[in-house]
Amino acid sequence: MIYCVEDERNIRELLVYTLGTTGYEAKGMGDGKELEKALKEEIPQLILLDIMLPGEDGYSILEKLKGDEATRDIPVIMVTAKEAEYDKVRGLEGGADDYITKPFGMMEFIARVKAVLRRSKKHTGEKEFFYKGLKVNVERRQVWDRDRSVELTLKEFELLRYLIENQGIVLSRNQILEKIWGYEFAGETRTVDVHIRTLRQKLGDSGFLIETVRGVGYRIGDKQ
Ligand code: CA
Repeated sequence: MIYCVEDERNIRELLVYTLGTTGYEAKGMGDGKELEKALKEEIPQLILLDIMLPGEDGYSILEKLKGDEATRDIPVIMVTAKEAEYDKVRGLEGGADDYITKPFGMMEFIARVKAVLRRSKKHTGEKEFFYKGLKVNVERRQVWDRDRSVELTLKEFELLRYLIENQGIVLSRNQILEKIWGYEFAGETRTVDVHIRTLRQKLGDSGFLIETVRGVGYRIGDKQ
C-alpha cells in the first residue's frame, strides 16, 4: 500500500492511478488529517508527501512521522515545487528518502518509487530476503539481481525460496525434489540440476550465490 498526500486533486488521482496500473495498491489523501486517519487503519510501504498542503505542511507531517515509533520506518518521498530548491535539502534532512519535483513524468515517478522501495529494508509486513546482490520479496514473488528485476517460472521461484528458507544449509537433490516436485518424481534428480542451472543463469551476477556442494546438493548463503 502506498499513500499519496496531495491536495491538488488532479495530481493525486493521477498518482494513485499510475501506481495502480503499475501493480501497486495506492490511496490518496488531501491533507495531514486524512493521512493520520489512514495510518490508524494501515501502515503503508511508502508515503508520497506534498509540501504545500492546507493546514499542516509536508515538513511538519514528516517530522511527526519520523518522531513516532509506529511510522518512523515508512519511507517518504517529498513532492516539491520545481522552483524551490531549498525544499529538497530540508526534506532530506528531515528524514525523507527522496524527493521529486513538480511537474514530473510518470516514468520518472515510478522509477523513484521503485528505487525507494528497493532501498527500504523495512517493508512492513513483507518478508524480504537480502543476500549480497540478491533480493527476494517472498510474498510478492519478486526477485532482483541488484537493480535488475528477474522473471522466474513458478518452479524456479519455489526452488529459490526453498533454498532461502534454509539459508546456509545444504539441501540434497532428493530433498529439493520432494519439496518442489512432490514424491512422484523421486529419483529424477537431474530435474533439480536443470532447474538450478536455469535459475543461476536468470539470476545473472547473483547466480553464483547458489553453491554446488559436491556429492550432496545445493546451498545458498554462508555455511552455518
Ligand atoms: Ca500542494
